[in-house]
Order: sequence, then C-alpha cells, then structure tokens
Amino acid sequence: MSSALVFFSNLSTAPSKAQRELLTLAARFENPTVAAASLIADEAREVLGQYGIATALQAQNPNTDFGGHELAVLDAALQHTDADLVLLENDSFSREIGARIAVRRNTAIVTDVVDISADLIATKDELAGSYSASVKSTTGVLIATVKPNSVEDAPHGAQDGVSVKDLELAQSSGPSVSIVAVDQKVVSDRPALNEARIVVAGGRGVDGDFGPVEDLADALGAAIGASRAATDAGWISHDAQIGQTGVTVSPQLYISAGISGAIQQKAGMQTSKFIIAVNKDMDAPVFEIADLGIVGDLSKVLPQAAAEIRRRQA
Ligand SMILES: Cc1cc2nc3c(=O)[nH]c(=O)nc-3n(C[C@H](O)[C@H](O)[C@H](O)COP(=O)(O)OP(=O)(O)OC[C@H]3O[C@@H](n4cnc5c(N)ncnc54)[C@H](O)[C@@H]3O)c2cc1C
Repeated sequence: MSSALVFFSNLSTAPSKAQRELLTLAARFENPTVAAASLIADEAREVLGQYGIATALQAQNPNTDFGGHELAVLDAALQHTDADLVLLENDSFSREIGARIAVRRNTAIVTDVVDISADLIATKDELAGSYSASVKSTTGVLIATVKPNSVEDAPHGAQDGVSVKDLELAQSSGPSVSIVAVDQKVVSDRPALNEARIVVAGGRGVDGDFGPVEDLADALGAAIGASRAATDAGWISHDAQIGQTGVTVSPQLYISAGISGAIQQKAGMQTSKFIIAVNKDMDAPVFEIADLGIVGDLSKVLPQAAAEIRRRQA
C-alpha cells in the first residue's frame, strides 16, 4: 500500500478545517506522516494524534526567504519518508511549493484534486467543474493539492501519541530573495472564502449595499463572496471575487444574490453542492444552474431569510 506525506507550511496553531480534511485523507494510506515548515504547536500535536499520524517532522522557519524554506522542508521530508504521495492544500502558495518540488524531483503535480484511490489515482475537477478526470502519475511520487470540502473531516476517535522530530535541512547557499517587511491583513471572524461550507455572494444587484449579504452570512456563519461587478465597483475587497479571475469555491451551499450568472462567475462556483439564486429577473442565467431559484428583490428576500434562520436558531 502507498505511503502518504502531508505538508503544511504552518502548524504553529491548531490545524484549520482544510488541514484536518488532508489528515483524514492521509489516514487512508500507510504511515501517514506530517511535515511542517514551522514548529508544531501543542494543540496541533494533539489533533495530529486524533487522525492516526504517528510521526510529524518540523523545521522552524527562519522567515528570511520566499518559499525556499518550505521547499527545503518538503524536500527533506520526502527524502526522510520516501512517500509515494504528497498532499498539500489547494491555496496558491501550496500549489507553488508543490509545483516547485515536482520540478525538482521530476515528478507529477495534480491540482484541484477531490479524491485519491488506494492505487494513487487522483480524481480532479476540470474546466471549472464541468468535467471530472481520473489521473495517475507516470513518474514516481504523486504531488496532489486537494480542494477544501472534498473530504469529510473524520478523526478516528482514538488519541494516539504523535512523535515529533526536528528535520535536518541541507545547507543552502542562502535565499535569493529575502523578506524585508510583512504586512499582516486584518483577520475577520468569518470562515476563509475558499474553504467555507457556506458562501453568500453579492453582485451588482446589491447596488452598493452589502448589508443584507453580510447579515445573512452572519446568520449562517458563512463567508462572503462577490461578483467582479461588485468588486470592480469598490463595494467589497477584490479578495472576495469569485470566478474565472477570482477565487474558486466549492461549498456545501452557495447563495447567489443579485448576480446574473455570467460564464466567468459560474467558473468559480458551479461545483458548489447546492446553489440558491436570488435575482429579480426570472430570465437571469444563474437560474440555469441553481438548485433553488427565488425571483425577488434581494433587499427583501435576504433579510427575511436571515430573520427566519435566527428565529429557528433561537
Ligand atoms: C476575462 C474576464 C474575466 C472575468 N472574470 C470574472 C470573475 O472572476 N468573476 C465574475 O463575477 N465576473 C467576471 N467577469 C465579469 C463577468 O463577465 C460579468 O460581467 C460579471 O460577473 C457580472 O457581475 P454581476 O452578475 O454582479 O452583474 P450583472 O451582470 O450586471 O448582474 C446583476 C444582476 O443583479 C440582478 N439584480 C439587480 N437588482 C437586484 C435586486 N434588488 N435583487 C435581486 N437581483 C437584482 C439583475 O437582474 C442582474 O441579473 C469577467 C469578465 C471577463 C471578460
């Protein structure tokens, strides 16, 4: 049976939901091992044990280069474990690290993976979820970046101890780029857009007021997304843009409000498990892919939905 290595650039806090999904996937394989390009926090060690991870490798980040440390840690961990499968998150930074290690090791990287079989056949979404492809690496190790919400997070219940080892890194000639300043973004209480189970997204139809979208998102504990028309208008940050030139999301529930459903918007959300569309135009293209369509004014529909959800939660 194949062995798996999960790589995280940071485990200095408890693992996120997307990270726990990777641990669940890794537990299907032999000797699931974790490598972190940071020191592993006590609360993270406890969680690793719950997913059957026996060994975790760590190497503190000297914080002096841009991806070079992560690459060195993943390379050393691969050497240490001789794993057949490397699992990474699907964010752009992890995809870059995965691509760089694949080039260095002359092996395959598969992105947007939603499942991996015991014989290392990866299932991935193609063309924004219009097709699903099964692919196999023909060159040694398979590097896979896994989409959030593809695997049901399932710790195996037992609390096994995890053995944490310091990873020896090869001497490098030093980074070619060094970080001179770090500007941390303000962290919101809402779930991260790319891994949220529920997303409420607003478009031009909100007419400058994201209040009803935010209110419904708060009632549902959802992340907030937007169409490009809304981000271009400056009503919400560009980070919230969903679509071909924005973030790709695949939540359990996607609520689209005041968005027409252009092909470039659909490209980023049509793999959502259940889509509810609110639009005052009954001919809007978004209704073609909606599981539930509501023809109405979002400034009336969204507050009513939020009030009903809160009433049922009370
Ligand atoms: C190369 C390229 C890349 C692109 N990338 C992206 C991308 O990544 N993401 C993206 O979203 N777009 C992208 N676009 C833009 C895309 O083509 C559309 O222009 C955009 O998605 C439209 O946004 P919208 O649906 O909010 O606005 P509109 O198309 O103007 O639709 C607004 C909708 O709101 C409805 N509405 C209005 N008022 C209300 C109300 N009170 N209540 C309910 N409904 C109401 C209207 O009936 C209408 O259907 C891209 C375009 C190009 C050319």
